[in-house]
Amino acid sequence: MGEAFDVIVVGIGAMGAATCNTLARRGQRVLGLERFDVLHGLGSSGGQTRLIRKAYFEHPDYVPLLHRAYAAWDELGERAGARLLHRTGCLYLGRPDGELIAGARRAAQQHGLRLEALEARDVAAQCGPFRVPQGFAAAFEPEAGYVLAERAVVALVEEALRCGATIAAREQVVQWACERGGVRVRTASGREHRAGHLVLTAGPWSSALLGDVGIALRVTRQPLAWFWPTASVRLPCWAIEDDAPGGGLVYGFPMLPLEQSTSERGLKIGRHRIGASVDPDVLERTPTAADVDDLRTALRRFLPAADGALLAAKVCLYTMSADRHFVVDRHPAHERVTIACGFSGHGFKFAAALGEALADLATDGRTALPIGLFAASRLRSNRSEPG
Ligand SMILES: Cc1cc2nc3c(=O)[nH]c(=O)nc-3n(C[C@H](O)[C@H](O)[C@H](O)COP(=O)(O)OP(=O)(O)OC[C@H]3O[C@@H](n4cnc5c(N)ncnc54)[C@H](O)[C@@H]3O)c2cc1C
Repeated sequence: MGEAFDVIVVGIGAMGAATCNTLARRGQRVLGLERFDVLHGLGSSGGQTRLIRKAYFEHPDYVPLLHRAYAAWDELGERAGARLLHRTGCLYLGRPDGELIAGARRAAQQHGLRLEALEARDVAAQCGPFRVPQGFAAAFEPEAGYVLAERAVVALVEEALRCGATIAAREQVVQWACERGGVRVRTASGREHRAGHLVLTAGPWSSALLGDVGIALRVTRQPLAWFWPTASVRLPCWAIEDDAPGGGLVYGFPMLPLEQSTSERGLKIGRHRIGASVDPDVLERTPTAADVDDLRTALRRFLPAADGALLAAKVCLYTMSADRHFVVDRHPAHERVTIACGFSGHGFKFAAALGEALADLATDGRTALPIGLFAASRLRSNRSEPG
């Protein structure tokens, strides 16, 4: 039996790294266990960048938490000596009554956010060579941008380590149990650890760890790619609600300056559309020609200047909840266990704030941060009482 900890965090993606960071900065004895390496491309937090925006079309109730997330990323960047949140603005294109445009306008209106209406003819001059289909509306959110995702996870982990956290890679948790006064976890290497509280931030592998608590999660395969534009383009971030059948939301980033780039080069594009359901341990991780063609189709329609050479393609995983909202709560059956999962392809931008909420839940059993929308009880199909 190893050393005893205040809190054990299972999974060091964005959420686990942020939780370990807050706990360690607050002087808690924290152990973070990661089954692969710290920073790997097999879960949901790999890749260089993630969109961050406040005019939240998914639901206006996310906005108060976004205010805290913006501040928390800026503060982390200041402490790390490197800007992690870059406010490039984000262009939104879509049918005026579609989920993206109508939802962004609703959130902006309810929370007094800046969301500028653009005329279709002004889009190219202000945002780059986008083609705006007939009948589409355009809006620009100046405060939106991107977080340097891999660097942010590194900054969270390094600061946690400097504040005394123990973080161990290649330690897969295979079992956990509540016992008198605490929790016990066992890893595949046969080690056992004890703590007062357990936080499960296992991303696509969450179902296996949560147990049968009636929270259905679906893991999906999400391809993305980097292209070298045929002409020089200067773009903000962008998101377009594709009105082709099943088109979802096509999104992309500016080309990163070399000093911000950790791996892939070129213009990154993805499609926020719920992909095929997969087992996170058994799936086709190599992007196919069809995956790349699908992204090129979107580029040809909306941003033909970016339809150049393919430089890289990858597959990432979403963990979908039934209603696409997050689950951040106490484990329904165990008071000493906190869960964070079901981030449904839009969680990264919140990680710096959710790490604080998860640390609050682990140590105080409650948080002042606005996470009411993420209660597990809204999703549960077979309820059992806390033990
Ligand atoms: C292609 C793509 C684009 C996205 N774009 C955006 C975006 O623009 N903006 C945005 O806000 N969000 C975006 N997201 C969503 C966001 O990236 C995720 O919501 C977020 O990264 C989830 O983080 P996580 O820590 O929950 O999961 P993960 O990063 O997957 O971390 C979970 C960790 O737990 C570990 N683990 C699992 N089981 C065990 C175990 N038994 N023992 C030990 N360790 C374990 C895993 O190895 C993994 O490292 C995107 C996601 C994808 C895939």
